[in-house]
Amino acid sequence: MKEIESKRVLIKKVLEESDKFVGQEGVLVCGWVRSLRKSKHCSFVVVNDGSTQNALQIVVDPAVANYEDISKMITGFCIRARGKMVASQGKGQTIEMVAEKIEIIGTVNDEYPLQKKATSLEFLREVAHLRARTNTISSVLRIRHALSFATHKFFGDRGFFYVHTPIVTASDCEGAGAMFRVTTLPPGDAADFSKDFYGKPTFLTVSGQLEAECLALGLGQVYTFGPTFRAENSNTPRHLSEFWMIEPEVAFCDLDDLAELASDYLQFLIGHVLDHYRPELEFLSTQNQNGDLISRLQAVRAAKFHRVSYTEAVQILEEAMNSKKQKFEFKVYWGCDLQTEHERYLTEKHFMGPVIVTDYPKEIKAFYMKENPDGKTVRAMDVLVPGVGEIIGGSQREDDHQKLVKRIQEMQLHEKDYWWYLDLRKFGGAPHAGFGLGLERAIMYVTGMTNIRDVIAFPRFSGSAEF
Ligand code: ATP
Ligand code: MN
Repeated sequence: MKEIESKRVLIKKVLEESDKFVGQEGVLVCGWVRSLRKSKHCSFVVVNDGSTQNALQIVVDPAVANYEDISKMITGFCIRARGKMVASQGKGQTIEMVAEKIEIIGTVNDEYPLQKKATSLEFLREVAHLRARTNTISSVLRIRHALSFATHKFFGDRGFFYVHTPIVTASDCEGAGAMFRVTTLPPGDAADFSKDFYGKPTFLTVSGQLEAECLALGLGQVYTFGPTFRAENSNTPRHLSEFWMIEPEVAFCDLDDLAELASDYLQFLIGHVLDHYRPELEFLSTQNQNGDLISRLQAVRAAKFHRVSYTEAVQILEEAMNSKKQKFEFKVYWGCDLQTEHERYLTEKHFMGPVIVTDYPKEIKAFYMKENPDGKTVRAMDVLVPGVGEIIGGSQREDDHQKLVKRIQEMQLHEKDYWWYLDLRKFGGAPHAGFGLGLERAIMYVTGMTNIRDVIAFPRFSGSAEF
């Protein structure tokens, strides 16, 4: 290993700056062998280091030391290669390496699980410890990074502060969320929570919103970005029990401002990926039925989001149902909670693009949402997108102390638990609003992946906490 002293370069850099690299000697790359092909006069090793979608071809002449071993490598080997960069003759790539020296630093001794033929997404979930080596999962994980990075850029540039809210909490934000208990009590103990670690029942958080509200009414504009836990048994392709949520909370903000923030944010995320992760998008376009992925994203980046009220949305759905244009498993009526099939009809068939639905019946929404003058609906909004359904849920918050207390009582929540949350309305209250974007839903939308378990490295869902 000592002989190779040049500093390793990322294959991404070599490919993107090929003009600069052509002609350079002693360039060092490391990575995993994707394939190896032998011809009469030399071997071609295709190597990928994870930095980008594309791989680098290395031409190995039999004169290279340990050529015997090199030419016997198979997919999955890990190597360190030094060589001269030359313009490529082959199609599809502009630059390749002529090897000066190759060291094998990791061999494959057993049958390599990631054989070309056995790489269905279902199978890859069973080898999640290795699947970052595949084209599909690595591109998705790079885009996951891109969306996280772009989130900090978007909010940072707009003067938002990134805040951290607790993961262990004693309050149930939604009033209905299924929560994971956090306890140090021995198993089987008839639960006396006064003897528990915190002296009362505690849980993993389902949302950082309530605490984010406290911080927004001091710092003005904040956002959280953290893990969120919901013990939902819903075994769907859109739910995890551990997922990441981005929750901006803004003071002096109403629902219209919030809707604008949400669409600006989504468009920024899409733009960032379009501008910086083209190879990933191009690859993903070839997967599944993603052919129009890039043009779809380009259209969404530029278009204004549609907006309808819940009441209008229900009319659209009823009309589709009555005219037999569309069958729904769940009947639609004013007051019903919109199911994924309804959401997807609205965004995929009716509006054919992202749509923001506002002003839901208060009965189906959380206690903290601001009541409209009609006394029936609240200033809530959901952003729906094709292929996924709900991607963002948000609202203007109730800032009237009396009304909030009434709502807490109506919903039979414990007023005492919310004393600090109510204080925000007693001391210098202000109109404010916020939303939650599920990071994994956003990744699904941008990548066209159809199962949420494939957009997080190690998915957690009911019955599964492997790895
Ligand atoms: P859904 O109706 O899809 O179950 P929700 O209305 O319960 O979602 P919210 O409480 O509004 O979700 O949470 C805000 C956002 O968090 C959602 O818009 C969605 O993007 C994401 N989200 C919610 N639950 C999950 C989950 N179990 N797994 C992954 N993302 C989720
Ligand atoms: Mn929601």
